[in-house]
Amino acid sequence: MARKIALVGIGKIAVDQHIPALAADPDWELAATVSRHASVDGVQGFTDIDTLLATRPDIDTVSLAIPPQPRFDYAHKALSAGRHVMLEKPPGQTLAECHALERLAQAQGVTLFATWHSRYADGVAGAKAWLADRRITRVAITWKEDVRRWHPGQDWVWAPGGLGVFDPGINALSILTEILPFDVHLAAATLDVPANRQTPIAADLTFAAPAMPDAANGANGADVTAVFDWRQEGPQTWDIDVDTDAGPLRLSSGGARLRIGGDLVVDGSDHEYPNLYARMTDLLARGACDVDLAPMVHVCDALALGHRRSVDAFEF
Ligand code: NAP
Repeated sequence: MARKIALVGIGKIAVDQHIPALAADPDWELAATVSRHASVDGVQGFTDIDTLLATRPDIDTVSLAIPPQPRFDYAHKALSAGRHVMLEKPPGQTLAECHALERLAQAQGVTLFATWHSRYADGVAGAKAWLADRRITRVAITWKEDVRRWHPGQDWVWAPGGLGVFDPGINALSILTEILPFDVHLAAATLDVPANRQTPIAADLTFAAPAMPDAANGANGADVTAVFDWRQEGPQTWDIDVDTDAGPLRLSSGGARLRIGGDLVVDGSDHEYPNLYARMTDLLARGACDVDLAPMVHVCDALALGHRRSVDAFEF
C-alpha cells in the first residue's frame, strides 16, 4: 500500500519536480499539502503545518520544498510530532540548524533525509565508480546558469540564508563530495555580491587537497576549482571536468551525461527526484537517516573565507 506523504511549499520545485515524481511513484500517495497560497487539485490543502500535524496522524512523512530560511522551524515541528522528514537542499541556513535536526530525528527514532538531488543524476554513480582507483590531477567545476530562469522573482535567494549563487553551486559541490575518493577543503574564494543584495551572484573557489599519509591512490594534491555564475543567459552550463592518469572524465548537464575519455558512457535524462523518493522509501524500510553536510561545509567556508567584491546591482 502506498505510504501517505505531505508536501510543504507548493512553489517552483514542488510543481516542477516533487508533484510529478510522487504521482509517478506507486510507493507514495500525496495525501496533503501545506502552502499559504497554493494547492494541488484533489489533495487536501492546509495553510499551516500545525493543523496538518494535529489532524492527519495517518500521514507519517513530510517533504519540505520551501526555501532554507523557514525550513528549520517546519522540520523541527514535523520531527517533534514524530514524522519522518525529507529536506530540500540546502538542508538549512546554518550547519548548527542541520546538526540540531539530526539530533532530534535520532532522539525521536524517525528518518531524516537531507536530500541532494544532483547526486541522483544518472551519470554520478558511474563517475564515482570510475574515479575510485584513478590518480586525479585536476577537477574543474563550471556551473553557470540564469537566475531569472530558475528563481523567477524569488527574493529569498538574495536574503541572508538564501545562499545566492551557492543555491545552484551547492548542487555541484554535492556531486564533487560524492565522486571524489579523497577529501578537499576550501582554501580561497572570491564572491561577487550585487550592490543591492546580501548574497553572491558569482563565486570562484579554490580547494586544497593536501597529501595524506594514508592516501591509497596517491590522488591528493589535485588542483580543484569551481566557478559559479548566475548571469548566464542562453545555454546553461553544469559541467565537472576531471583529469586523471587514465584520461579525462566529464560530467555534464548537471550530472546526467558522463563521458570517459572520448566516449559518452551515460546519456541520461532527468530522474533525480524519482530517485530521491525511491531513496526515502529505502531509508524508511531500513529505519535509517541520511544527513551528509559535506556540501554545506564548503559553502559555509566560502562565505566565511571569501573575498567580497561589490558588483552591479541586480534586479529581476
Ligand atoms: P519558491 O518557489 O520561492 O518557494 C517554494 C514555496 O515555499 C513557495 O511557493 C511558498 O509557498 C513557500 N515559502 C516561501 N517562503 C516561505 C516562508 N518564509 N515561510 C513558509 N513558506 C514559504 O522556491 P523553490 O524554487 O521552489 O525552492 C524551494 C527549495 O527547493 C529551495 O531550497 C531550493 O534550493 C530548492 N530547489 C529549487 C530548484 C529550482 O529550480 N527553483 C531546484 C532544486 C531545488 P506559499 O507562499 O504558498 O506558502
